[in-house]
Amino acid sequence: MDNATAIVIGSGAFGASTAYHLARRGARVVLVDQHALGSQTSPRAAGLTSKADRMPVMARLRHEACDAFERFEAEMGQSVEFHRSGSLKAAYTEAGEAHLHAGLATARDLGIAARLVSAGEARRLAPHFEPGSARAIGHVPSDGWLEPAKVATGFALRAAALGARLAPFTRVERLLHVDGKVRGVTTARGEIHAPVVVDAAGGWAALVAAAAGIKLPVVPVRHQLFITDPIAGVEPLQPIVRLLESSVYVRYAQGGLMFGGYEDRPRVIDAPALPRGFQIADLPLDLGVLRALVDEVADHFPALGRATVAVHRGGIPTMTPDGRPILGRVPGLDGLYVASGCCVGGLSLSPAAGRALADLILDGASDPDLTPLSVERFKDGYEEPSELEAACVGQYARKYTH
Ligand SMILES: Cc1cc2nc3c(=O)[nH]c(=O)nc-3n(C[C@H](O)[C@H](O)[C@H](O)COP(=O)(O)OP(=O)(O)OC[C@H]3O[C@@H](n4cnc5c(N)ncnc54)[C@H](O)[C@@H]3O)c2cc1C
Repeated sequence: MDNATAIVIGSGAFGASTAYHLARRGARVVLVDQHALGSQTSPRAAGLTSKADRMPVMARLRHEACDAFERFEAEMGQSVEFHRSGSLKAAYTEAGEAHLHAGLATARDLGIAARLVSAGEARRLAPHFEPGSARAIGHVPSDGWLEPAKVATGFALRAAALGARLAPFTRVERLLHVDGKVRGVTTARGEIHAPVVVDAAGGWAALVAAAAGIKLPVVPVRHQLFITDPIAGVEPLQPIVRLLESSVYVRYAQGGLMFGGYEDRPRVIDAPALPRGFQIADLPLDLGVLRALVDEVADHFPALGRATVAVHRGGIPTMTPDGRPILGRVPGLDGLYVASGCCVGGLSLSPAAGRALADLILDGASDPDLTPLSVERFKDGYEEPSELEAACVGQYARKYTH
């Protein structure tokens, strides 16, 4: 493509959404991926949304994203099977209760219905959940879940219909830049030129940035889930259940229950050491990690202990030192933008993250202002790789308590 406005590296949820929103506004976009479109971490997600975020900019983006999923089929021509099941979050400690209240309060400030429910009400809404000694249970009726595999490909195909060029199986080797300005990328199949490049390379995002001398403070970690065989009485519109202190989530999937969680010591992925051509399908998984989490919460989900596992999957989401994504310009290289550091919440954020980033690229500003999510917030720290890794792992471990 001659005279491209922007090159987006990575066709996961973040990159494909950004490409779609750029194309929708008339920009000439090239969406490049080293593998098949939308084939890496994004399709392996759980597909949960969560609106009750304590950080206002995140709560706004999550609210917008959730609404966008409801309109997805009308806009993108492909359904993501969004189910507005609502969500429950249960807290068992004083600190957890305060955390839960803060998230619900931010949601309510934005006009999102969010309330406390009794244990009996929670049991009625989600009969497979036994709340036990929960101190507080929050309910957000407008949360939901969707089919993860349809998100990135949905955005990418619609972007193509609007004129974007899709370049799967095209690995970006280097960023081209002259006098502090981005000029394009070098790929295994030749150069592509544009004044704007978006690094949305998921678990590889820091590698892509490093090739231009930019340090991106993100660390990929393995995250896994399983889906059981069908269980009688489990229904699609029963709410997602999250237990805050143990940091596990449970939702309906394929007639059974989906279970995932945030262990204390996740496997950190050393991206530079990954073999060339590595795909997420090659990632070694460990069901033992999930079984240990199930043991912790067995009293709350009695059906889980008896069920057999039908699907076990995982991917490499990227964590940041403060548990928030990195979205925006990269200082030091004009024209370079980043959409990374998903912190295991990027799929559900992607419609709004891509929309806001496209606006920032095309207009120089976005609503909401993405400054709080800029990489600049880390400019004075995390020089030492071990310090960065410890901070990122700390954000992953028992994620719902942060
Ligand atoms: C088990 C699990 C459960 C999850 N549950 C949820 C959830 O419930 N809700 C939620 O919101 N999020 C969830 N997530 C997180 C979610 O999957 C991620 O936030 C999201 O997929 C991130 O998308 P991405 O575009 O950054 O990465 P990816 O989907 O990995 O896309 C990055 C792309 O960049 C490409 N790429 C990399 N390097 C290059 C290069 N040099 N040249 C060209 N292309 C390149 C890759 O091939 C890849 O396709 C979950 C993740 C996992 C693993």
